[in-house]
Amino acid sequence: MAKIFAIANQKGGVGKTTTSVNLSASLAAIGQRVLLVDLDPQGNATMGSGIDKRALTSTVYQLLLGEATAATAKVASVNGKYDLIPANRELAGAEVELVDVKQREGRLRDSLKELEHDYDFILIDCPPALSLLTLNGLCAAQTVMIPMQCEYYALEGLSDLVQTIKKVRANLNPGLEIEGLLRTMFDPRNTLAQQVSDQLQRHFGDKVYRTIIPRNIRLAEAPSYGIPALGFDKQSKGALAYLALANEIVDKSAKPEWIEAEDARVQ
Ligand code: ADP
Ligand code: MG
Repeated sequence: MAKIFAIANQKGGVGKTTTSVNLSASLAAIGQRVLLVDLDPQGNATMGSGIDKRALTSTVYQLLLGEATAATAKVASVNGKYDLIPANRELAGAEVELVDVKQREGRLRDSLKELEHDYDFILIDCPPALSLLTLNGLCAAQTVMIPMQCEYYALEGLSDLVQTIKKVRANLNPGLEIEGLLRTMFDPRNTLAQQVSDQLQRHFGDKVYRTIIPRNIRLAEAPSYGIPALGFDKQSKGALAYLALANEIVDKSAKPEWIEAEDARVQ
């Protein structure tokens, strides 16, 4: 059964979409079956996967409104070897159109059910707001991955997100866990970044991924070609970092809990 991740942070520009696209491609490159769900009306994960968002008839919007199924809305990414449920600006209307719908937070969860045995990982790229769309992402997921830049205000935003996750757990999705915090756009020469990174590790311990994503121009360039960095410069530091993250995640998912407990005891 698929492990479902919501990639969420209500701050914009922290690397959610870059992580969604490049992690999807990297998991696929190491043999995992991956579905990426674009849950942001900006459609950046869609374009970054080589799909023209303007030419779509079936997107996540139709899925949320019950006008399409996940199986009919999914398309193959152009160069990343993963599947995608795309989005475009139409999705911005979903918030309003779902207002009178019962259990509207659970629409995505319900529609992904039919595909949960077809994939090893389903990644959901959430929009930069704690909105109904993000709630749909958090309800559908088993775990949340939080990409963040190591800067002063990053920690402030984090507590709002953690509160939201706690509320979702209490009211909508009792099994929801924080999978991990991912340090993105990291510049080791920046002392503040180093300090915030140390602080994160002190606070959150092994909830912080070992892999750090460096600031790397290739990751910023790749979307303009509609392919993940791996398909465009696979030796780049950015592509290699996401490959390392994919391996870390697969290792973590494969480990039964008793081994994790044993690891903790030994350390
Ligand atoms: P979000 O989805 O959280 O809004 P994005 O993934 O779109 O954030 O990233 C914001 C901007 O930063 C984009 O222009 C992206 O190309 C760039 N970017 C993201 N990660 C990196 C990185 N590791 N190195 C360099 N640029 C990056
Ligand atoms: Mg984004």
